Amino acid sequence: MTPCDAPLEQLLLHAEVIEHITEHMYGCLPQEACGVLIGHSRAASRTLTVTQFIPVKNTAESPLHSFHLDPVHWTRLALTEKGLVGLFHSHPHTSPEPSREDMLQLPSFGGLLQVYAIARPTVSVASGNHSLQLHTYKITRGKTHMESPAPCKVNTLAQHNAESYALAPIPFDIHEG
Ligand SMILES: [Zn+2]
Repeated sequence: MTPCDAPLEQLLLHAEVIEHITEHMYGCLPQEACGVLIGHSRAASRTLTVTQFIPVKNTAESPLHSFHLDPVHWTRLALTEKGLVGLFHSHPHTSPEPSREDMLQLPSFGGLLQVYAIARPTVSVASGNHSLQLHTYKITRGKTHMESPAPCKVNTLAQHNAESYALAPIPFDIHEG
């Protein structure tokens, strides 16, 4: 059974994960920051706990407005990191909601991940502290049924197995200590 079989109902982020994301996001400004989330899920309680953030270099051609995980680092993480559960990137200037481009990129990660997180930097005027507005989503998937008949044999497999992914907001709680 894959973790996606049980619908995720609760998301917990360790406080250090928030701190690390914040630090990395501010360090990357004005560019978009990105990285992966490491954690574990408990099917019984339908809870996913994120325990670690690993920054990945943004190798997008225009990193001010988009992100692309460094392919070498990403491949290594995808192959070796057992606790890979999510993806993070920042929107330095816009609301932390999935953009059209984010949704177009989703199929390249969707099958491997359960959580999608986007943050925007929000400097607190009162304290001057670096803080963030963080939105978290769970990745849901479903088969896309192509209506047109397969035009040739080469495409048959891809068409019948095309999976589509969607993002559904899931609030997070912060796990201290
Ligand atoms: Zn984005």
